[in-house]
Amino acid sequence: MFATALRCLRCGREHPFDPRAYLCPACGPGGAGEDPGVLDVVYDYAAAGRVLRAALERPRRGSRGVFRYLPLLPLARPAPVPYTGGTPLVTAPRLARRLGLARLYLKDETRNPTRCLKDRATAVGVSMAAAQGARALLCASAGNAAISLAGFCAHQGLESHAFVPAEVSEVRLDWLRRFGAVVHRSEGNYDRAFEESERARREHGWYSRNCAFNPFLVEGKKTVSLEIAEQLGWRAPDLVAAPVGDGCTLGAIGKGFRELREVGLLQDLPRLVGAQSSAVQPLVARFRGGAPEGEPEPATNAASIAVREPRNALRLLGELRESGGVLRAVPDAETSEAQALLACEAGVVAEFTSAAPLAALLRLAREEDLSGKTAVLVVTGGRAD
Ligand SMILES: *Cc1c(COP(=O)(O)O)cnc(C)c1O
Ligand SMILES: [Zn+2]
Repeated sequence: MFATALRCLRCGREHPFDPRAYLCPACGPGGAGEDPGVLDVVYDYAAAGRVLRAALERPRRGSRGVFRYLPLLPLARPAPVPYTGGTPLVTAPRLARRLGLARLYLKDETRNPTRCLKDRATAVGVSMAAAQGARALLCASAGNAAISLAGFCAHQGLESHAFVPAEVSEVRLDWLRRFGAVVHRSEGNYDRAFEESERARREHGWYSRNCAFNPFLVEGKKTVSLEIAEQLGWRAPDLVAAPVGDGCTLGAIGKGFRELREVGLLQDLPRLVGAQSSAVQPLVARFRGGAPEGEPEPATNAASIAVREPRNALRLLGELRESGGVLRAVPDAETSEAQALLACEAGVVAEFTSAAPLAALLRLAREEDLSGKTAVLVVTGGRAD
């Protein structure tokens, strides 16, 4: 295990590595316009890189999905969780032509156990919870994170608590019930459900799978970048696009590529392309210095990214800066069109939210010449909304 420290993304303080850590003790959960003290795992990159390279050179004795990159994860031994990650990079030549790209790949995260990239974080979180002897886990979620947690807990014989917004869809509630989750349905939105989950965590001591606050979950999500880089023969694509809610997913993607550069497996970083919905775009506004992009819509169907108080803003903004990235707000009509295009021009059924970054790429393609470039679109989820 090569994790050595936990650095606060808000105050910069370094704390010794502790698998039970949560938020920075000095900064706490933030709130009222203040960022939380999110901790970031730091590794001994020289040692981790050596062990990772040696492991990668061994003939593939069957890929182990997310745990293929164990030296860059904060745990020594994974729990026997459902096989996660190892998803294909699917070519999409028709969409590439439409965008004027040389190549477009879809990183098809809909093939994970519960049809969503969230499973990568859950695989790491449940492994760490199991190592600590936790019996009950919780999660605040618009649906996907809780469904992911519930599925893994069903498999492991653990109790799962799902804190969901009032407007959660029947389809998502049905998945939660089938997996046997205890559903705590808030009377408010996702941000309210998040607060309620944090209260329950303090009251009952349930292990938290809240991705922004639990510092180890982003580490699971970053494995999507490690896979993309390996699948492209240790070359970074020019662009990597993903939807942005709390900021964990795209922040993790940025971290993954940076760490590969740190250990010498990559020369360059891809430019990150994030997408929020026009209706809920706090990070776009912050990235642009205060003003939202376009005329904000009253509501959105992009439920998985409708986060009004994003909790991993500092991580996301840092990675966007580092990669020269962009963050766009897209109207639902464009996302709807992008969702249809993914199906009828690439054969991939994405959930509504997961089509938003294609809408962002289509906007970018109208403004910039993308010829000769390679882009990867991370299709984060594929369950019916
Ligand atoms: C959670 C989620 C996202 C966004 O992830 P954040 O970490 O909240 O930014 C994107 N797509 C899908 C399908 C999700 O479930
Ligand atoms: Zn701090």
